[in-house]
Amino acid sequence: MSRSSHKPSTRLGHLGRSPQRWLGAVNTPVVRTSTIQFESVRDVELAEAGQYPGLSYGLHGVPTVTDFQAALAELEGGHAALAVPSGLTATTLPLLALLVPGDHILVTDAVYGPTRRFCNLHLARLGIDVTYYDPLVGGDIAALFRPTTKLVFCESPGSLTFEVQDIPAIARVAHERGALVVIDNSWATPLYFRSFEHGVDVSVHAATKYIGGHSDVLLGAIVANETAYPKLFRLWTDLGVTASPDDCFLGLRGLRTLAVRLERQQASAMTIAAWLRGRPEVAEVLYPALPGARGHELWKRDFVGASALFGVILQPATAERVAAMLDDLELFGMGFSWGGYESLVIPIHPERARSATTWQAAGPALRIAIGLEDPADLIADLEAGFVRLRG
Ligand SMILES: *Cc1c(COP(=O)(O)O)cnc(C)c1O
Repeated sequence: MSRSSHKPSTRLGHLGRSPQRWLGAVNTPVVRTSTIQFESVRDVELAEAGQYPGLSYGLHGVPTVTDFQAALAELEGGHAALAVPSGLTATTLPLLALLVPGDHILVTDAVYGPTRRFCNLHLARLGIDVTYYDPLVGGDIAALFRPTTKLVFCESPGSLTFEVQDIPAIARVAHERGALVVIDNSWATPLYFRSFEHGVDVSVHAATKYIGGHSDVLLGAIVANETAYPKLFRLWTDLGVTASPDDCFLGLRGLRTLAVRLERQQASAMTIAAWLRGRPEVAEVLYPALPGARGHELWKRDFVGASALFGVILQPATAERVAAMLDDLELFGMGFSWGGYESLVIPIHPERARSATTWQAAGPALRIAIGLEDPADLIADLEAGFVRLRG
């Protein structure tokens, strides 16, 4: 039903479900079970040997979970996928699974903050050396390789600062040296950055964000090629970190509308980002989809579209004035997430999480996530905020 010749939005309606298996029900139900009952001692023995053809235990993936996994693997063009309880589990599990003491890893300096903390505290504790690199390094990353470098961790565009990475150049260097490439692809989703076509080995997602799309689920997914998958599957099984069937149901439901939500959110984000760029209160808009913005050329070369999360650097302003602007916004909420139907804004401090590069900006910075509201209403809300910003 979901042959890959179909367009992505068509496939989103059909992948990860099989009505004939469920009395015709179009959606895979939430299968809540810990225990699978076997018909015979022979089946029990097959299951113990890992040779039972069906499901053997709830922890290893009930149909709601395996359908979500299959849908994501097919959508992104990976070999297989694993569902995990959060985006953070999705970013950290591959590091634990693919590295051993003595290994060295290269991590983008614009990596999601909690992923950085995991590297600093836990990889270091396990005797794995971490080097942060300039997200814009491209093929020059070769100079940072050591004989022990086993993995390059990318995130593009970067968290908070939206640098677009030259993934094909980085992947070429990594593969020449026998290292794997992992990308946090949460911003673009499987629809807008085709990871495996650009040389990535493992693509991880905070499905909490656009895939879930409704700010009502914490969920992660790891999509891998055939080389990386076995080690990931082994650790996923041995840690017992499957996602719950309820959460995977919401992940599958989110996938059905992902293309249409992203299209609308992208269009609104373009309108609002372009408007912001023309405002006297704004020094720079960090949105690679915007012509002339930093990273635009690379984004145009490698991405199919843009999601609706971007940064704004304001002209110099005091913290009090920025708070006055944000505190009284009517439609934009303040919160640590994005990808839902509702617009959000948050002050950001990239300088607090940089070690390979330094963050220099004219004034304070904001991160804006555009939801599904009418862009004219969102612009009016921001415009009133700018009046408060000016004081
Ligand atoms: C939110 C986020 C995560 C983590 O997702 P959770 O589901 O909140 O754990 C990972 N990477 C990026 C880029 C994110 O923005």
